[in-house]
Amino acid sequence: MGKHEAAIGKQFRKLFLGSSIVAAINFVVTLILNLPYLPQFYLISTGIFSIFAVWASLEYFVICYVVSFLVVMIQAFISVYSVGDDCGIQLYLLTLIVPANYIHLTNHSLSFKRTFIIGVVCANIAVYLIADEIIDQLISPLKILEESSEIFFTFLNAVGSLSLLFYVSSIFAGGYQKEFEKLNDENHKLERESNLDKLTGLMNRRGIENYLHRRYREWKLIHSPFTVAVGDVDYFKQINDRFGHDAGDFALSQLGMLMKSMVPEYAMVSRWGGEEFLFAFPLPMEKACEILEKLRSEIEAQQFDYQDKQLKITITVGAAEAAEAESLADLVRLADRRLYLGKRAGRNRIVSKDE
Ligand code: GH3
Ligand code: MG
Ligand code: MG
Repeated sequence: MGKHEAAIGKQFRKLFLGSSIVAAINFVVTLILNLPYLPQFYLISTGIFSIFAVWASLEYFVICYVVSFLVVMIQAFISVYSVGDDCGIQLYLLTLIVPANYIHLTNHSLSFKRTFIIGVVCANIAVYLIADEIIDQLISPLKILEESSEIFFTFLNAVGSLSLLFYVSSIFAGGYQKEFEKLNDENHKLERESNLDKLTGLMNRRGIENYLHRRYREWKLIHSPFTVAVGDVDYFKQINDRFGHDAGDFALSQLGMLMKSMVPEYAMVSRWGGEEFLFAFPLPMEKACEILEKLRSEIEAQQFDYQDKQLKITITVGAAEAAEAESLADLVRLADRRLYLGKRAGRNRIVSKDE
């Protein structure tokens, strides 16, 4: 059992302890007022709540909740039967807590929730008014209370029951709220992780695709500048062959870090495949190429130390601007073709034109 569940269980038990004390006070009061049936009922309630005060936990919540609810409803019934409808029928309205809680915990739309609650409240008020009339006609109370005792008893009845059900349900709802939040956080974390490449710490292909589509749509709509570039490490196979696959992995992770630090936050870089990277800039070609050129020369200048070996790395990049292509796929293809031209022309360069 988690810490959270244990904490909720403890709250439940405190709550039921409070309820058993309230029931015990009711027992004494009804005994003094010499009311029929009610002292016996409150004695039993005190017993039930005392058991819950020891035993309640999140696991047994539904049983505790249903029994508490029945206790309140029976209390309403016996109060009406023994001292008249002014002393208990209003407790019937507490049944509203159940549908209110139910709907609070579900995933329905806000408008459905609103309609549902308004419907239930109206139905409850209608039933209450009808039941009040019927009870007036059918039941004559066993004992007529003086007005002051009646007010006192009704007050006691209502406060005890209302606080019990209100707190039980709010703890219940609070518990679920936490569970939902936890699940939500986990989902977000999973979502973020599934868009990330573990080795380089960059976005993966899936992660950048949304961004590419958004930028391309923006370009279509308002012609906001958009440049895409595909970069590929030069002679990467040789790094693997000469220094081992782990050295290759190390080089990729170092490249990822360097790219992340050199590509501005408003742009995006991702690991597109093996040792290929895709860049997306909300910039015209010229500005994007300035950044790419800085990155290229920084990579060329760096020495990546792996164990006792020094790895030298260069990259070749092909870049293309949205205006040059018919579609997003076309744009990436064009950048890819320029990358190929760069490889053929001798590597370690940025190519932004078809030559
Ligand atoms: P070029 O300059 O023409 O790009 O030469 P190259 O050797 O880099 O050729 P190519 O791009 O075709 O080779 C990619 C190599 O990268 C092949 C593959 O073994 C290696 N590779 C792909 N992904 C990984 C990886 O995650 N880790 C390591 N260590 N190597 C990888
Ligand atoms: Mg390569
Ligand atoms: Mg490659």
